[in-house]
Amino acid sequence: MREAEAYRARVEAKARDQGIDLVGIADLTGERPAVHHLPPDLVAVFDRAVCLAVRVSPTVLATVRDGPNHLYYHHYRQLNFLLDRAALAVAREIEALGYRALAVAASQIIDWTHQLGHVSHKDVARLGGLGWRGRNNLLVTPAYGAQVRLVTVLTDLPLEPASPLGQDCGACRRCLAVCPAGAIHEQPTAFDHQACFAKLKEFGKTRGIGQYICGLCVAACPGRATSGREF
Ligand code: SF4
Ligand code: SF4
Repeated sequence: MREAEAYRARVEAKARDQGIDLVGIADLTGERPAVHHLPPDLVAVFDRAVCLAVRVSPTVLATVRDGPNHLYYHHYRQLNFLLDRAALAVAREIEALGYRALAVAASQIIDWTHQLGHVSHKDVARLGGLGWRGRNNLLVTPAYGAQVRLVTVLTDLPLEPASPLGQDCGACRRCLAVCPAGAIHEQPTAFDHQACFAKLKEFGKTRGIGQYICGLCVAACPGRATSGREF
């Protein structure tokens, strides 16, 4: 086995040990996702990114009927903890091999004005072959639809990368009808971020949940694992 494939197998094994469902490896030597508020000289050495995805429980999502609830919020937080621990374990594995690795938090806003984290996990996941940008502005995977949460490890470990899938939502329109903000449109690029964020703030106040979450367009997008539907 070539070195890059062997490294990839080692990273995947470590991630799956940690409860991760999907692993993508993005090649950052061509298209690079924007990285915010990290030292540029450090970021420049990272020519790979590992994207880890964990499935959101379809049972928990079945409780999301007209917006977020406390049970969904609890589950969301637990998945973020799982992702952060998995990213830490993968980063430590890579550093033990003598390379650099930076685990980016699963859910951490660095710039509230522009709603940015250090890196877009969705962009990394798309580059790493895990899925595509859906009409709901989320990463949509063939197996689990938008019912995944993501985390990223930036690295210079020479991993065998994947390629973007080259798929899209096709004829599906399920999420358009469920969005209470009217934020989802035919084209993913037409997604109305402001309308969505206003609704999340409203939910945050009215539902007593101290986090900007919703869950409705996630619940509407199950992928083939639950729906049997091909895109
Ligand atoms: S529900 Fe359908 S249209 Fe909406 S993001 Fe998922 S696959 Fe795309
Ligand atoms: S998170 Fe809620 S408000 Fe935002 S696009 Fe999805 S369904 Fe609409």
